[in-house]
Amino acid sequence: MGRTQRLRLQRAQKSAEDSSSLQNLYVHLHSLGWQNHTHLSAQNYAQTGRGLCSKQDTFYPEDELIRLPVDCLISIATLESDMEFKSLFNKDLFDKDARISFQALVACYLMYHKHLQDCSKSSGYAAYLDTLPRSYSAPYFCSIPELQCLPESLLERTVAQNRQIRGYYEIIKGLVSFLSCDCCGKSYGLEIWTLAEFKWAYFTVNTRSVHLSSRFLKKQSSHFQALISGDTNLALAPFLDLFNHSDSVQTTAEIHGQDYVLSLKSLPFSKTKIYDQLFISYGALPNFKLLTEYGFWLKENKHDYFDLSLLDIEHMVKHNKELSTQTYHRNIFKFIREHNLNDQMFVHIDDGCSHNLRVVLHLIFKQQAYFPNILNQIAFGDAEQFEDVQPELSYLVAYKIKEYQIFVGELDKLPKPSESGSVARSYLEECIRYLANFQITHPVE
Ligand SMILES: [Zn+2]
Repeated sequence: MGRTQRLRLQRAQKSAEDSSSLQNLYVHLHSLGWQNHTHLSAQNYAQTGRGLCSKQDTFYPEDELIRLPVDCLISIATLESDMEFKSLFNKDLFDKDARISFQALVACYLMYHKHLQDCSKSSGYAAYLDTLPRSYSAPYFCSIPELQCLPESLLERTVAQNRQIRGYYEIIKGLVSFLSCDCCGKSYGLEIWTLAEFKWAYFTVNTRSVHLSSRFLKKQSSHFQALISGDTNLALAPFLDLFNHSDSVQTTAEIHGQDYVLSLKSLPFSKTKIYDQLFISYGALPNFKLLTEYGFWLKENKHDYFDLSLLDIEHMVKHNKELSTQTYHRNIFKFIREHNLNDQMFVHIDDGCSHNLRVVLHLIFKQQAYFPNILNQIAFGDAEQFEDVQPELSYLVAYKIKEYQIFVGELDKLPKPSESGSVARSYLEECIRYLANFQITHPVE
């Protein structure tokens, strides 16, 4: 069999597996009262991979897309009513200084059911578990050499995610380290709930959960209360989590009686067509957020902007012949940091330069004064006087474009990209496109 044929066969097998696990999920959700009155069906789409369409219905704004019984969701109520899962968490071991997020606990719940299924085929969530992706494409899953070719902002975010995930994992491991599976006898802390498994489960919750309003979350008998820090207002939503995100639709999610209902609020056209993919909105999110949390980005995302840091300005100065010969008073940088003016520094294709970025560029490049009281008057005075920073802004954007081109070049030198690496590379190219477009629409006069 030739390579192409073999690939085709593999793909056909994969899609047959997918549809049989989805079939099982329909049956499972149906037994919990789901009617699928909008005739939703999963399909593979070239651009997004798996997504949802309706083979019978067209939708207009205000129409319901899906009505899923609340009992189909995996929420705090589900965890609190699962006696065997609860028994893994001995309340006497909870430590108020070592709490975990609810997201981390739901990740444990997924790992718990995945093992039940692998070990004794006894999980009630077998059908759902089979529909979950095996891997995720956020930069978090890039190889170390790939991470070394990513910009500071992506690296920082990935390091922060890693710190959080490892922190939660250590706490969880401490709680279950003495326990073993009744069926196979393996240790939870050492063999079953591994760090790799936890990372997968954590990102499953990260990418696939829905928000539940706290109004709905009645006070539960709370075994986990002393373990969890923060809210419990998220849930996994089997099948509903197959909807992909678009920046051009608006949707609402509400609990109506015993149902979780997603409705269309607005569409970029008058109505949807049968078989066309149906999208929902995960929120007005820029590409950086989509990439780091969900592992994808959108071309010409309406909600996009490009963040800049004080370090970017310092690097740009170093690389600019004219600017690097000037001296800059350290009081100015101190003042900027003390007043958090370096927060919210970004460029936006339509709105131009953010207020803080304008103030910061003005203070650094246009001000001779370095006494705090004078800086104060300038920074928080009349905004009109900051109009003169266009050349420096343009240098800064050009510097970022060049920097991102170098990162892309470095990534291309690596032998075989991971899926995360390829997605991150394509994101860098979208940033370059965005910034180049910004330069064209905001020329130096
Ligand atoms: Zn077992």
